[in-house]
Amino acid sequence: MNRRSTLKDLVHHSGGPPRDEGEEARRVQLVEVTIDSLAEVGWVGTTLAEIARRANVSAGLVAHYFEDKDGLLEAAFRTLARTLAVRVRQRLEQAHTPRGRVQAVIDVNLAPEEFDKRTGTAWLAFWGQVLHVRGLKRVQTAYQRRMLSNLRSDLRRMIPAEDARTLAFMIAAMIDGVWLRAALSEWREADSESARALLTAFVEGRLKDLAQARAAETVGAARPGRAPSGGALRVINPANGTLLAEIAVDGAAQVDAAVARARAAQRRWAALSGAARGRILQRAAQLLRECNDELAELETRNTGKPVQETRAVDVLSGAECLEYYAGLAAGIAGEHLDLGPAAFGYTRREPLGVVAGIGAWNYPLQIACWKSAPALACGNAMLFKPAELTPLTAIRLEQLYRAAGLPEGVFQVVQGAAETGRLLTRHPDIRKISLTGEVSTGKAVMADAAASLKQVTLELGGKSPIIVFGDAHLDNAVAGALLGNFYSAGEVCSNGTRVFVHKSVHAAFIERLRARTLAMRIGDPLDPATQVGALISEAHMDKVLGLIARGRAQGARLLAGGARVTTGDLAAGFFVAPTVFDDCHDDMDIVRHEIFGPVLSVLEFEDEEEVVARANATEFGLAAGVFTNDLTRAHRVIAQLQAGTCWINHYNVTPIELPFGGVKMSGLGRENGRAAVEHYTQLKSVYVAMSDIESPY
Ligand code: NDP
Repeated sequence: MNRRSTLKDLVHHSGGPPRDEGEEARRVQLVEVTIDSLAEVGWVGTTLAEIARRANVSAGLVAHYFEDKDGLLEAAFRTLARTLAVRVRQRLEQAHTPRGRVQAVIDVNLAPEEFDKRTGTAWLAFWGQVLHVRGLKRVQTAYQRRMLSNLRSDLRRMIPAEDARTLAFMIAAMIDGVWLRAALSEWREADSESARALLTAFVEGRLKDLAQARAAETVGAARPGRAPSGGALRVINPANGTLLAEIAVDGAAQVDAAVARARAAQRRWAALSGAARGRILQRAAQLLRECNDELAELETRNTGKPVQETRAVDVLSGAECLEYYAGLAAGIAGEHLDLGPAAFGYTRREPLGVVAGIGAWNYPLQIACWKSAPALACGNAMLFKPAELTPLTAIRLEQLYRAAGLPEGVFQVVQGAAETGRLLTRHPDIRKISLTGEVSTGKAVMADAAASLKQVTLELGGKSPIIVFGDAHLDNAVAGALLGNFYSAGEVCSNGTRVFVHKSVHAAFIERLRARTLAMRIGDPLDPATQVGALISEAHMDKVLGLIARGRAQGARLLAGGARVTTGDLAAGFFVAPTVFDDCHDDMDIVRHEIFGPVLSVLEFEDEEEVVARANATEFGLAAGVFTNDLTRAHRVIAQLQAGTCWINHYNVTPIELPFGGVKMSGLGRENGRAAVEHYTQLKSVYVAMSDIESPY
């Protein structure tokens, strides 16, 4: 492409008052000549006479346009800066994420056009004079300000404002520095491509470090009135045992202060229309999507689960949840009831007030989204306590909610272990608890909530069945069993860990299951090729290994896995190979207890009635799956299974539209879908009289 015509086009389209076309063309020509002159004979040699000579016009004409040398050079400098700014703007319009927009600034500033000798030498000449010529200084200041503010505003969407300011400054300084070194070495030290690669690597590294460091900071200490109470949670990377962060624990004083802030904020939040609340949730969902990779990596570091999962599921399912409730928020309504000519009634669906979410460690961000999105859409304020082992991504969620415009205090993260959880469940001003955790925790939470008659939603454990009938599509059934046991290293509450396989297909099923299990890749969770990562902690790994040992001792036949993985670097982490047991019986410990690890038990059955009875013979009732091609049998069996969430010919898919939850000991209430709205609102019934009161008194 012809560089000069590009420059002209760009300058023409860059705004400013319209000028006569001929005059404008002449100005552009003189500016171009000035840049050529600067590149060839430098600052001193570039005079009005020299420009007139080169442009073949009189010196008077040059003076007519630019007055003097300073005016001419200022116009030339302005043109260079504006050209660059227009290019940046064009690239910014094409970039769809904050990270993409930061890259656009880097790419354009270090593009081959800026690294060409002519443009580069002209820039260098100007830079040498900027401190002495006021007009040039003005141009340079405006250009720098624009670059910094572009960078800052996009970085602020990824990292806190204070870090964004510093990083924007560092990027600008590096762009100038790399460019200056290249220019002074006459473009030998760096070319455009290597300069951009250097800056890109620098930005990636800083963003990663900042995400880790920020998440590791104490939220408590960062907030007024919430100084750490003394204790700290040590957050460990389960893939290598290293310390990720220390998080200050919130005690009674911090929880009280957070509740007080939430109460004040909730009143204002509830006074907004549902549509206005929905818009903020929608923006937060967008930010979650934009920060997908950063959040996924943080989640992977904290939980040990593969980044191929966290990138594809954990953050995005949180974003989908926010989008779903953003859409629903404007439609939350009661009903109108016709009570005859003398009256009518209506109901209002009102928020509960301040509610609390308490999360488990297996899906930290997703759980925080699943609880907060419906709570906020309904006009509540939420205090959220993540599990002590995985407190990091909730901190980022709070930051993203704030960046999306959520008023301060409406969503707050409190940190700590069970003791902090108890401060929430016992707090008289909190109207509801939504817990994801173990059955024993659910019972304790419910007992504590009773004192102040709080509502509770309990998403608890499970020991769910997958039933594979003889007519099932066998590869689908094997895929379902693998997904339902080894995703997230088996740390999924709804896993179908009791796989009942009909006698007629048992041999074929276990052969395929074993082959596909042995082919799974165990490795560094940050490696995108890894399919099975680490378990959450050493203690949990020991519990899982203990149950595996009991399975062996009680006579189950080990088909795959069965041991800790300690190859190479994995020795420092808590990895257990995907484990398959065959020949299992209903009374074995591995079949009765929730293992919450990568352990699948195969059980054989002969007829439908028998398998339904065995599938239901557990205190749990979270989930169940049926694989069959017989339509009537599928529905007949599902209707008899005691489980809150069921799948036919699939397993563990949880679209946000479908309510999720358990029966029996697996829980109370539902998350997701419209059902969650009922759990985060209370009904007010209103009777409206349309006639006089007939009174006997
Ligand atoms: P826990 O029950 O140990 O903990 C859950 C949360 O409750 C944690 O934040 C915990 O704090 C907190 N907590 C513990 N005791 C109390 C208490 N007395 N009062 C208030 N809060 C308390 O579960 P895990 O974190 O170990 O998670 C694994 C369990 O969660 C499994 O049983 C699994 O089946 C279940 N689960 C259920 C799901 C569902 O949707 N049904 C989904 C995912 C998991 P801290 O950990 O910080 O001490």
